[in-house]
Order: sequence, then structure tokens, then C-alpha cells
Amino acid sequence: MNYSVRQKKLAAKLREEGIEALLITHLPNIFYLCGFTGTAGVLLFGAGDRSPQLYFHTDGRYTQQAREQVKGAKVIITKNPAPAEACERVKKLGLKAVSFEADHLAYAGYKYLNQSLRGKVRLKPSSGLVEQLRLSKDADEIEQLRAAVLLGSSLFQTALSTIKPGVSENVVAGELELQARRAGAEKMSFDTIVASGLRSALPHGRASASAIPASGFIILDYGVILAGYCSDMTRTVHVGRTSRTHRKMYEAVRDAQLASIEAVRPGAEAGEVDKAGRQVLKKAGYGAYFTHSTGHGVGIEVHESPRLARGQIQKLSPGMIVTVEPGIYIPEEGGVRIEDMVLVTESGYEVLTPTTKDLIEL
Ligand code: ZN
Ligand code: ZN
Repeated sequence: MNYSVRQKKLAAKLREEGIEALLITHLPNIFYLCGFTGTAGVLLFGAGDRSPQLYFHTDGRYTQQAREQVKGAKVIITKNPAPAEACERVKKLGLKAVSFEADHLAYAGYKYLNQSLRGKVRLKPSSGLVEQLRLSKDADEIEQLRAAVLLGSSLFQTALSTIKPGVSENVVAGELELQARRAGAEKMSFDTIVASGLRSALPHGRASASAIPASGFIILDYGVILAGYCSDMTRTVHVGRTSRTHRKMYEAVRDAQLASIEAVRPGAEAGEVDKAGRQVLKKAGYGAYFTHSTGHGVGIEVHESPRLARGQIQKLSPGMIVTVEPGIYIPEEGGVRIEDMVLVTESGYEVLTPTTKDLIEL
């Protein structure tokens, strides 16, 4: 990972915005900027006149890890809470103002920083400064994300082989997660969704103790984290013979998903991608059952910008990686969702998820 390029880009952005320094508390942003994977730390990022000045504060639990992982920052192992010592550093550097990440700092954390600075330095809210950089993935990130997607996809067969009427959704999720670990995943990107039978009408039906029924849809939505990067995919399969109604539902969602994917290209507004699939479902008579947005960015976090939703004017650009995941959910009937990860390329798109979208009957 080229941390130095990222650090220089952020420094340029801060200078452009007239920000002297940024107190970074959001761990995914810290990981992005200097490679630290631990769960506690504060990065004081000074824009500097020419080159950025980074001070990473963490506690004694992370002494060795921080020294091994952190790139381009001075590592400070603190005895007092890391935010307090970061504030001491702000004062020592003679800064007049320091910005904080307003989207991520809780009110109690804000009050704590204010007290630590004792009114000597002004705290200014900022939003999305690092996230803007993270929108387009660099070559190293695209490679990591490809690897995570392939690992995730390789688990699909395992999931299918465990699906049988009478087996609980939890068992299906558990086998999938064990295989993920065996294949090298650090953990899952989120709680695995296995929603079978009538539960498939729940857009976010986390795996439960419910037994898989003799007939109906099963939505599998899961992802893995590999080297700090997330994957996210959904496939819907059918247990027992598919009725005409269910086949029609499945085909409508697949057509909608393909239409949205076709709309992915640099310069397209995120809302256009959403609209393309939504129109297909509307025409097929399922408009009212598509109750969520079409997709989201994926990277260090499983839900990032951009949002592919109605009315979003954010323009897509090369290097963005988004999910495309329309679905329909009919109460007392069932639901279908199909989700791929898609890379925005110079000329259009590349679907990263290689898994088949043919309707599978088990
Ligand atoms: Zn998903
Ligand atoms: Zn998703």
C-alpha cells in the first residue's frame, strides 16, 4: 500500500481547505492512512507547509503492533488516554485550531477533547475529508478487493452443500463462516444473512434458529474481510421446485440487476444506476416491493460512499467499487436479492463477483 501518496493527498486537501491539522479518530481512516489495524488510537495529521506531519498515539497494548504496522507517522505510546495526549501534542505544536471528524466523534468524545485543549485551541468540525480520498480505490486496493471477492465467492458452494430442509439457518451460516476462516479470512464483513422460506421477505434476515423449509427461496448475503478489505455478495437459491410465481420474481430481480450494472460508467450519477433497475422492477409489477436502495461503496468498510440510491447526484468515477443489489420482498410469499461487486473502469464497468446468477434449485 502506498501510504505516502495517500498522506500527501490528504495534506494537499487540508491545505486547500485551510485546515492546519486533523484529529483522526475513525479507525478505518487511520488504517487507510498509515496501516494500523488495532482498535484504539488517535492520529494527529498536520498538513505541514511542504510535507505532512503525522503523530500516531496509542496505548501500551499496541506497542509492538504499532511499531510494525504504522507507516509515515511518529508512533507515541501513551500512558494517559490517547486522545488526551494527542491534545497535548496539538498544544505543543502551537496550533490555533484543529479539526475533528464530526461524522465519527461521539458527543462525549468531543467534550473530552474540548476539556483536554482547555479552550486554548479551537476545535472545528469537518466531514468526509479522508472518505473523499477513499472513494476511488488505488491499484493496491483494487487488488485486495478482488482477492476478498474471490474468497467470498469460493464459499458459495460450501453454503449450497449445507442447505437442506430441516437444517437451521444458523448451521448454514456457521459452516460458511468456518470455511471463510479456513480459507484465510480475518472475519466476516457483517453478520451473515441466511433468510429462508417466508423469512426471505425480510431484506436483512440475519441467520436464525429457523429450520429451512421444504420449499421456498433462501437469501444468502455475506462477505469476508481479507487483509483489511471487505467483500459483499448475495445470491438467492430455491429449495424444492420453483413455482411460476417464484420464477417470475427471480427473473425480474436478475433483469433489474443486469440493467443497473449496465448503467455503471464513469460520469453516470449514482441515482441513474438505481433508477435503471428500479424501472425494470416497476414494469414487471414489483415496484412496491423493492424497498431499499440499489447499492453502496465497499472497501475498508462494508458500507462506504457512494450510495446508489434514488436522487443521488454523486458522479461515478474510475476506481470506485460498488455493490449492485436490487431485491423484492413480498410478505407471506418470499424474497429475492442478487448482489455483485462492480468496479467502475475507464470505459464502463467490470463485474468482480464471478458467481453464477442462474436460478439454482436444491
Ligand atoms: Zn450484501
Ligand atoms: Zn451490500
